[in-house]
Amino acid sequence: MQIGRLARHVGMGIVILTALGCAQNENQGESASSSSGTPVEPPPEPSADFGRNIQKTGLTVDLATMTATAVIDLAGSLTSTGASFEAGGLEIESVSRAEGPLKWTLTQGQLDVGVPKSLESAQITIDYKFKEQAQFEGLMAKGSTLVWPYFCGNLFPCHSDPADGTTFDLTVTGTPAGMMTVYPSAIGIDAPSYQIAWATGSYTKLDIGTTFQGTRLVAHYLPGGGTDAQKGTEKLVDIMNFYETMLAGYPFGGEAGPIAADWGPTAYGGMEHHPYWHVSTIAMGDPWIQAHEAAHAWFGDGVRVACWEDFVLSEGTVSYLEARAITEVMGAAEGTKVWSHYQTRLNTAMAGSASKIAWPEGCGAVDILKDNLFGDIAYMKGAFFFRALEAKIGKQKLDPSLKAFFLKNKGKAAHFQDLLDILKSVAGYDAAACAAAWLRSETVPSEQVCP
Ligand SMILES: [Zn+2]
Repeated sequence: MQIGRLARHVGMGIVILTALGCAQNENQGESASSSSGTPVEPPPEPSADFGRNIQKTGLTVDLATMTATAVIDLAGSLTSTGASFEAGGLEIESVSRAEGPLKWTLTQGQLDVGVPKSLESAQITIDYKFKEQAQFEGLMAKGSTLVWPYFCGNLFPCHSDPADGTTFDLTVTGTPAGMMTVYPSAIGIDAPSYQIAWATGSYTKLDIGTTFQGTRLVAHYLPGGGTDAQKGTEKLVDIMNFYETMLAGYPFGGEAGPIAADWGPTAYGGMEHHPYWHVSTIAMGDPWIQAHEAAHAWFGDGVRVACWEDFVLSEGTVSYLEARAITEVMGAAEGTKVWSHYQTRLNTAMAGSASKIAWPEGCGAVDILKDNLFGDIAYMKGAFFFRALEAKIGKQKLDPSLKAFFLKNKGKAAHFQDLLDILKSVAGYDAAACAAAWLRSETVPSEQVCP
């Protein structure tokens, strides 16, 4: 995610998920018989268990009726007959499996389902209604969705814990006449819950070009946005070539690119909804924002953070990559402008009231919004840490380390410490002290080079 005024907007716009009270299914799923006449074990009572990993989420959404079906593949369990999901903004209509209905409860936004024990993964189907939400907390009035960091339960039953990745299938129907809904039909490797999105509007598709490795780049823009779409993506093929060469081939299929999302007149930024990342209409013409969101395919999406405390692994790394790509593709003078802008952002963040720690210790204790970890400290201290690292070990050692880290963790959750470990083994440099100085200190190191 890239932030401008969005940071403040999101920061102020936090609304506690409204509990829908307590709902319970009426169908108690008494013992049934299979079609062959063999008795089927009655479904177990619903119980809470967020530990069942979501392996696959298949969503079929009807915008005309605001209804959807989620087909969810859960990790098997021989000990638990419970499965829990965040569903704070949903009205659950039924939960079932192939053999028949399952028992469930929805209490204070938590959907608990009784799932029979199984060695193999269990597939359950959830029919539900969803609704429009406040800005940046689900489906928005202007037709695009955004559920980062933990609002997925306003759009589909989910685990917002970034450690729990899922693949996605998505089908959206019921688009109003004359409009188009742009979305990926699938995300084929495990992704964080916040990655999936769609956008509905009067879109025009712009072909941008194809990377060395064969990724077709396209932009979707809204009426009047053609010039900005062209301007913002003029160097996007070169930028993607830079990432694909430095890191690895694009991880989310054969077609990718930005969608202009109407976030209103003041929210300047983008969101890493790969393969079709969203950029606010007012930022579509900004190649820096495009470079930033594009880089999230590798960091933040392709490798997701294991804990919100590891947020700097996403935004710090991506801010650094943005500056590298812009320097490489648009020239040293433009790169200097990026770093000068970063210096201003860092200074402003250091003068602010939020914590100056970019990489808090622990896992699962920090609320990324309420504790203000979502802010420029993580973005900018992260970017400057990598610059200090580059100054110490050189690109020729840093770049292969980033590549090795990506290839090892693609489709997985990782800690920032895992990246430091790779640096040690691949580049032969222990960055622990430098990371502590930049990311775990309240101050900014006076030295611009790692010790
Ligand atoms: Zn970002």
